Amino acid sequence: MASARRSGSLAEQLLLLDRLAEERGIRLEPDVPLGPLTTLRVGGAADRLTTATTADELVAALNVAHGAGVPVAVLGKGSDIVVADAGIRGLVIRNRADDMEIDGDLVRAASGAAMATLVKRCTAAALTGIEFGISIPGSVGGAIWANAGAHGGEMRDVVLSVDAWSAASGVVTLENAGCAFRYRDSRFKASGEIVLGAVIGLAGGDGVDIAARVAANQAQRAATQPLADQNAGSVFRNPPDDHAGRLIDAAGLKGYRIGTAQVSTLHANFIVLDRGGSAADVRSLGDHVRSVVADTHGVELQYEIEFVGEWGREVAGA
Ligand SMILES: Cc1cc2nc3c(=O)[nH]c(=O)nc-3n(C[C@H](O)[C@H](O)[C@H](O)COP(=O)(O)OP(=O)(O)OC[C@H]3O[C@@H](n4cnc5c(N)ncnc54)[C@H](O)[C@@H]3O)c2cc1C
Repeated sequence: MASARRSGSLAEQLLLLDRLAEERGIRLEPDVPLGPLTTLRVGGAADRLTTATTADELVAALNVAHGAGVPVAVLGKGSDIVVADAGIRGLVIRNRADDMEIDGDLVRAASGAAMATLVKRCTAAALTGIEFGISIPGSVGGAIWANAGAHGGEMRDVVLSVDAWSAASGVVTLENAGCAFRYRDSRFKASGEIVLGAVIGLAGGDGVDIAARVAANQAQRAATQPLADQNAGSVFRNPPDDHAGRLIDAAGLKGYRIGTAQVSTLHANFIVLDRGGSAADVRSLGDHVRSVVADTHGVELQYEIEFVGEWGREVAGA
């Protein structure tokens, strides 16, 4: 919760938020269930939700939240989060800013654009370098935040620069070297800066070959991941020189269930959830897996998915 809080109760801050938003023509919806906006499809409501369809709208909503002193959270495609059953306090901004422009080998993409759309547009333009992104069901902003990667590629390989917002500095442009990209990590996780858009550098290639690589990546994922089930992708980061899925499988946990949550029988580093399941079950199962893997292998797994809301952290703040 990085947004500076003014004195007063959350209820008073929300009243101020409502007033400031009305003055600026920003539409807020109260008590919006967040589960349907995530791939795991679980979790409670946001006190307020607004949808930004441009980077300017995203900045306006962030500024209003900051002005009211309420916690603010930006939601991309919701493919890397578990929303607490009690929901998220403050304002959640659903990022649907999805402008995209191709100029030679460069792509300028707003942060709410879907990675899959980006890959399809680049494939149609015979641009190579981002074929890996077809397997990442997130937004460009979420993918930069996580330095998401697959099939041997990751965002740091293709991002040239990022436009980001923070309450302290407004909008700044950061070059790749300033983004502190590491394995499934970037400066944005620590700083709480909000990614508004990015310039992505690719190379011209053979359109047929590029399309074949994209299709092969899709087929590989469909064969190895429980894509038909409610999930949030890999639960744990891979430890150095090993795979979380292998460790979980070797600990005998494939198929292990707590309540409505189960370790996938297809891929042990996925938790799948029953319809109507609870976030608390996902958390209990994840913690159980961590504990058993630590006892069995002496390895402390680190969560890759983010628990947001009542767990103590909102989706992302600034
Ligand atoms: C089936 C499946 C397969 C997956 N495979 C992969 C994979 O191969 N590789 C991989 O790396 N990941 C994978 N993921 C995880 C996920 O898709 C990525 O981490 C993705 O980048 C998350 O983007 P999102 O828009 O969904 O983020 P969200 O889940 O909406 O948000 C995640 C976090 O990012 C923050 N965030 C979102 N947008 C912004 C922004 N504009 N600025 C700052 N912070 C922001 C949010 O506040 C939140 O803290 C997979 C997930 C699923 C469900």
